[in-house]
Amino acid sequence: MLLTFLGGAGTVTGSKTLVEPELPGGAPNGSRILIDCGMFQGPRDVRRLNWEPFSLDPATIDAMVLTHAHLDHCGYLPALVRDGFTGPVYCSPNTAALAPIILRDSARLQEEDTAWARKKGFSRHADPEPLYDSEDAERAIELLTPIEFGQTFEPVPDLQVRLDVGGHILGSSVVTVHETSRGRTVVFSGDLGRGNHPLLAPPSPPCEADAIVLESTYGDRAHGEIDSELDEMAAVITRTLKRGGTVVIPAFAVDRTEVLLRALRALQDQQRIPVAPIHVDSPMALAALRVYLAAIRDGDPEITSAVRAEGEDAIDMPNLHEATTPQQSMALDSSGARIIVSASGMATGGRVTHHLKAFLPDRDNCVLLVGFQAVGTPGRMLLDGAHEIKIHGQYIPVHAEIAEIEAFSVHADADELLAWLSSCRPLPSQVFLNHGEPDSSEALAERIRSELDLAVDVPEMGERVRV
Ligand SMILES: [Zn+2]
Repeated sequence: MLLTFLGGAGTVTGSKTLVEPELPGGAPNGSRILIDCGMFQGPRDVRRLNWEPFSLDPATIDAMVLTHAHLDHCGYLPALVRDGFTGPVYCSPNTAALAPIILRDSARLQEEDTAWARKKGFSRHADPEPLYDSEDAERAIELLTPIEFGQTFEPVPDLQVRLDVGGHILGSSVVTVHETSRGRTVVFSGDLGRGNHPLLAPPSPPCEADAIVLESTYGDRAHGEIDSELDEMAAVITRTLKRGGTVVIPAFAVDRTEVLLRALRALQDQQRIPVAPIHVDSPMALAALRVYLAAIRDGDPEITSAVRAEGEDAIDMPNLHEATTPQQSMALDSSGARIIVSASGMATGGRVTHHLKAFLPDRDNCVLLVGFQAVGTPGRMLLDGAHEIKIHGQYIPVHAEIAEIEAFSVHADADELLAWLSSCRPLPSQVFLNHGEPDSSEALAERIRSELDLAVDVPEMGERVRV
């Protein structure tokens, strides 16, 4: 079969891989499925890719399969639906529950940003348009087709697909695609979780794959020891609260918020941080929190048995407050000892940008970064020690303490990626690395070649390969 990398190549966003079964002569047989349909995020030159004409007519794609509900894996779907895609979008039941939350929020954010840019006139375009609107998102949501883990289905003739637990966020899947006529199998790791996610069961190992398409976000990194990182987190939070400051935590709305709440609950129960109000300020995060709570309550097999046994108290606590309305969000921007968890995770948009504007100029406060910060994002600039950052066209001085905790990464690190890959028996004859910045992918490629002696490619955007 033929794989064409249309996104997530040379970058960590915009994941899209076209899969086409082949005729006996090697030509594509005319069927097409797309694995993931992610939005490009980050610096302007990467985001610009969302606006380029799609490289093929979306009406010619028969079906899609989503590995998970993160925006960089499903966020471009409404644009393709608007441009003519009408097929089913297969995904796990929890992805089908989470993706609508993400897509609606994305459409709304774009509508708001466009309206704001029009009003303030800071767009380079005379009449800025959103990438897509809420109507496009609703039409995309109608196409979501849940499939249980472990069930084989045939989205197009000659291709059989199966989803297995990915362990990265709730609903995330490892996708196996089998070409029946030629007996070839490709496994897509999607974003791969770690064995020690505080809420989720570990990722399923790949089996009997001829080729594996493996993510490489942290291909050149090793995550720190969780215990020492939690000590550091407790210390940062404690000293900020004690000096009367606010801890602002930009967090990906889905999963990161739940993982953080789990850690805050534990640190608080162990009296390693003072009890202070914890505000979850993101409508999207709150909607996702309800999906997680339902999964915990229902004993979903994606949840670890320990958390199922604890029930909702695993992440809920008496001092947890929900900020749903914009007024409640704005009311948080007065000084005080509290913790605010707000999206987006790389501070590229959403309510957290307003909190950064309010809290960055005061040295009593702290911004705690807990997730991957892509090059060019405000989160990365803070991490790299910027003295000021631009928010909504305005330069904001950075005086607050900036801290980073890597313990919450829900991406496997280099050792974990290698361990997952080498658990495939027999080892695959081809490995393709996607979803990584070039240095990271190359470092992982080198390790796979030297430690596992496998043929590895890091495909470029638009590159087509054969399995
Ligand atoms: Zn992800």
